[in-house]
Amino acid sequence: MNNVIAITAFQDNYIWMLTSEKAPDKNSEQSVIIIDPGDARPVLEYLHSHHLIPAAIFITHQCYDHVGGIKAILDQYTQYTIPVYGPATEIVPCMTHPVKQGDIITINPTGPNNEECHFQVLDVPGHTAGHVAYFQQGAPGRLFCGDTLFAAGCGRLHTGLYSEMFHSLQKIAALPDDTLIYCAHEYTLANLKFACQLEPDNSDLQTRMAKTTQMRKLGQITIPSQLSEEKKTNPFLRCNTPAVTAAAKRYAEVAGLPQPSDATSVFRTVRDWKDRF
Ligand SMILES: [Zn+2]
Repeated sequence: MNNVIAITAFQDNYIWMLTSEKAPDKNSEQSVIIIDPGDARPVLEYLHSHHLIPAAIFITHQCYDHVGGIKAILDQYTQYTIPVYGPATEIVPCMTHPVKQGDIITINPTGPNNEECHFQVLDVPGHTAGHVAYFQQGAPGRLFCGDTLFAAGCGRLHTGLYSEMFHSLQKIAALPDDTLIYCAHEYTLANLKFACQLEPDNSDLQTRMAKTTQMRKLGQITIPSQLSEEKKTNPFLRCNTPAVTAAAKRYAEVAGLPQPSDATSVFRTVRDWKDRF
């Protein structure tokens, strides 16, 4: 399964779908993996018009805009057994396969190129306490990471801890540099505006800002991004750099927060700053 389709939903959500080939064959049933279907309607419209059937549903975390469409999708395909994978410690409607760090998921899609495909589960708590991500190995690999790492940003902390989110982002940073990051929201431009406040002299950031501004003007999707680009421009992956550390210290001073003393506390300060930005 090497073709990724973005379905837009709500204000700025992306529901990702993985299929085997670019042009589905009208004469055969081809299956698709659906990731975080918060809304059933746009997913069902796409499935029906492209003659696709769900092979599996993957859920990264329990927020409504990621799980709200599961039941209505399953209700349309009661003649099939469609597994629903999701975080073992969260409440996900219709979940059949609770997963956790280290689990390997194997999917056997139907269709003309019905190659078996594998995903590795990563625990990435922070946005929520049980959040997981799905890594598909390949050249390049793909990470479906929900609301953990965003393009040029990271998720807010709802039920997880700062230290958990920091370590989850470090875990993602340890994946191969060419990994494509499929996050669940189009927040890139707003995230870059914040990042430019922290690192006005970062030329990679300026380049990305110019490119992203142009893409959004044309109505283009800015996801996926490459992990290597995130490492150069995403402040939440740069909490150990002198520039981000210095910016966090300045902000802490002005905001009357404790001075950050290590990368985790720099992360916490930067996350607090972004929440108020
Ligand atoms: Zn969420």
